[in-house]
Amino acid sequence: MSLCQTVQTPALTYEQPLGLFINNEFVKGVEGKTFETINPHNEKPIVAVHEGAEEDVNIAVKAARSALNGEWKQVTPSERGRLLTRLADFLERDIETLAAIEALDNGKGVTMAKGDVTASAGCLRYYGGWADKIYGQTIDTDTNSLTYTRHEPVGVCGQIIPWNFPLLMFAWKIGPALATGNTIVMKTAEQTPLSGLYVAKLIKEAGFPPGVVNVISGFGRTAGAAIAAHMDIDKVAFTGSTLVGRQIMKSAADSNLKKVTLELGGKSPNIVLPDANLEEAIEWVNLGIFFNHGQCCCAGSRILVHEAVYEKFLELFKKRAEQNKVGDPFNTETFQGPQVSQIQYDRIMSYIKDGKGAGAKVVTGGDRHGSEGYYIQPTIFADVTEDMTIVKEEIFGPVCTVQKVRSEEEAIQVANDTNYGLAAAVHTTNINTAIRVSNAIKAGTVWVNNYNTLHYQMPFGGFKESGIGRELGSYALENYTEVKTVRVHLSQS
Ligand code: ADP
Repeated sequence: MSLCQTVQTPALTYEQPLGLFINNEFVKGVEGKTFETINPHNEKPIVAVHEGAEEDVNIAVKAARSALNGEWKQVTPSERGRLLTRLADFLERDIETLAAIEALDNGKGVTMAKGDVTASAGCLRYYGGWADKIYGQTIDTDTNSLTYTRHEPVGVCGQIIPWNFPLLMFAWKIGPALATGNTIVMKTAEQTPLSGLYVAKLIKEAGFPPGVVNVISGFGRTAGAAIAAHMDIDKVAFTGSTLVGRQIMKSAADSNLKKVTLELGGKSPNIVLPDANLEEAIEWVNLGIFFNHGQCCCAGSRILVHEAVYEKFLELFKKRAEQNKVGDPFNTETFQGPQVSQIQYDRIMSYIKDGKGAGAKVVTGGDRHGSEGYYIQPTIFADVTEDMTIVKEEIFGPVCTVQKVRSEEEAIQVANDTNYGLAAAVHTTNINTAIRVSNAIKAGTVWVNNYNTLHYQMPFGGFKESGIGRELGSYALENYTEVKTVRVHLSQS
């Protein structure tokens, strides 16, 4: 099988790299295997890409290690920054192609996909700006010493990303790692390998030395597990399910105690209080759950509404959800495309069945949308109780529950009644209430009168079982540096 193929999308035709990207070259996997990636809009294969497994990870790690100790080490911090900003420019230059790839491979609406490309370029440029601003401290302990700290790269970083934002997660991961001088072995999600390979081509074009970024298309149980257990990977950064996050941490502990950062699942509460601007709140609640077809780790899937506005809220929210344009990702008006895969489709539909069986009221949706592709109607369940599975478990689809609460205190108590703690929101026009509730909620991000407004300058990550460490902002840099203390004894003669 070849290493590149012309791919036709409804928007444009482009050249898709298919190989593993190691040492700045596209290559076949050692085992010679390939796997198909499926278009979720029509359930048909797009292309087959080369599959990487343990041996390929080993080769990629060697490449990354030798770049780390060789050419990359000689690249100045300013030059690292320049490479990152140049890569950002290339993403923007190729925005139409990258958005088409995401629409084709992931199923997200092409207009939303363009937003992902812009955010990815912004993220890379932001970290490009950080590259020559990584400082340690000088510490004055006594007149006989000079003590200072250096923030050195951790080393070879394994990065494992999911399929819900294939390009954006790639950018979130490589930005801080490269700014701080690390090298990377990246494993993309098996459902969505295409944009990562395209960006690999841009990484080479931007002028990154060979081996600095290596991209492996492959499966979690083979390539992913090999990264987590590798003895010569210094750090693993993972975004995905809590279940797999636990396995990664175990593997890290059982192998070389590599550093671990995890960005995991959520069941985020979205609180609407009686003094909220209801129309605005509903816009945000709608975006909070249905954006990216509900496939966001921070999706506002548990909507907690004060009893004073509960009935009115349900009436307006139903109306709003039914206006969401569901359909072909290549229609520029589309808000919600198909779910990413048959497996995800089946999982979500089984939660819907479970909710119906448990006696929750279907306010709208609850079925497949259309007859082809992995489409699901935007679904709202109301009159739910806290013991229901649909209230407890992450569904990762366009499905939310609306619960009635009687007071601010009850809203906080229910909001925190979960093992997760990724995000939350509160809608109120009272600044005191807003800050009181935000402080009381155990979550890594709290939005006040908005939702899902992530930004590369703002840290993002989870309390409790939603993760370890923070991505984005200056906080993410801490994951990618080791602090070294140097103490010099000063001779008095
Ligand atoms: P999802 O269930 O939404 O697909 P996962 O957590 O399974 O989320 O997948 C997220 C990423 O983790 C993907 O790149 C996947 O291949 C990878 N992965 C899955 N299982 C493992 C594993 N056991 N070890 C390492 N990576 C894994």
